Amino acid sequence: MNELQLPSRIVEALQQALPDNQGFISLHEPTFRGNEWNYVKECLDTGWVSSAGKYVEDFELKLAEYTGSPYAIVVSNGTSALHVCLMLAGVQANDEVLMPSLTFVATANAVSYCGAVPHFIDVSPVTMGVDPIALDHYLQDIAVYKDDGAVYNKQTGRRIAAIVPMHTFGHPVDLDPLMEVCERYRITLVEDAAESIGSYYKGKHTGTFGKLGAVSFNGNKIITTGGGGAILTSDETLAKAAKHLTTTAKLPHRWEFHHDQIGYNYRMPNLNAALGCAQLERLPIMLEQKRTLVNKYAAIFESILGVSLFMEPSFASSNYWLNAIVLDEPSFELRDQILEVVNNAGLMTRPIWTPMHELPMFKDCPSMQLPVTNRLAASVINIPSSASLCS
Ligand SMILES: *Cc1c(COP(=O)(O)O)cnc(C)c1O
Repeated sequence: MNELQLPSRIVEALQQALPDNQGFISLHEPTFRGNEWNYVKECLDTGWVSSAGKYVEDFELKLAEYTGSPYAIVVSNGTSALHVCLMLAGVQANDEVLMPSLTFVATANAVSYCGAVPHFIDVSPVTMGVDPIALDHYLQDIAVYKDDGAVYNKQTGRRIAAIVPMHTFGHPVDLDPLMEVCERYRITLVEDAAESIGSYYKGKHTGTFGKLGAVSFNGNKIITTGGGGAILTSDETLAKAAKHLTTTAKLPHRWEFHHDQIGYNYRMPNLNAALGCAQLERLPIMLEQKRTLVNKYAAIFESILGVSLFMEPSFASSNYWLNAIVLDEPSFELRDQILEVVNNAGLMTRPIWTPMHELPMFKDCPSMQLPVTNRLAASVINIPSSASLCS
């Protein structure tokens, strides 16, 4: 198989998978085919467009029900959700927080907002998320316990306060062995489930395994509120604290404005929550459409040498938020040729994120060796994934 042919073979494969779709095909676009117009119109008709209104509470209850999380607190976006999750997990200035280098920048930014330092962990090729075995080996080398019972990085002297695995493109990380490592080393688990609403690990919804979990409803995610996010937790005290902290830490009173700590205006407006309620109703249908799409892709890409379609591991049911093809041999050159040819053919494709350890603000952060991250950075290409492509 001649490498020069691969870009055009990928174009053909995508055209074969998406025969009824004409014009430019985007990577991921939202669809509003349910009650979106009704619910948003109701907000406009009644004037309840901002941070008070029935849809905020409604959306929280429906999210809790859908995910099986006892509590869900909706917020302004996924990044603010992560920020508050980390604060409530006890992350403090000058702590270290373990996280994959292969993620969207928000994960590392949220750690930085706490004054803490991201510490990069390699990922598994099976999940594209944190590799529990590599993590365990690494911690054997660098972890040390102090009298306070906490675990420290013996190379930097900083406390390791938490770990934030991220469920890449909606594919769950292998949580059982990861949780076992966390328990053994006494490291708090906070999930970046921004991409994984609708994804399950061994039948349980992602974002509900850690002490807290963060979800995003940005416009490019599987369901959207325009912009928005949610904090998931099973701990009532943390849930109350999350609501308090994200609503300016105001004490309830008929007319007094009294705030008992530095709070945040991370509220989700009622307008956005209305959209969220309607989108959540449609999520089961979108998940089916996404599964139809990935099955089509799987059948077609099977016969294309040089790349493989990324599929969920056996322990997971993925939402297949973004489909990805992976080059057999990592090559930035070939990757970029493919991106050039396929985008020019009107099919939007893009590479995975530049790993965090290569960004200027995080390049000096502590890190283990990242061979899999570096391989994937040069071999992953996302292909059109909208649920509407199969409806
Ligand atoms: C989208 C995303 C976020 C942040 O969500 P926003 O709502 O855009 O702030 C965080 N982490 C990951 C991995 C994401 O993909």
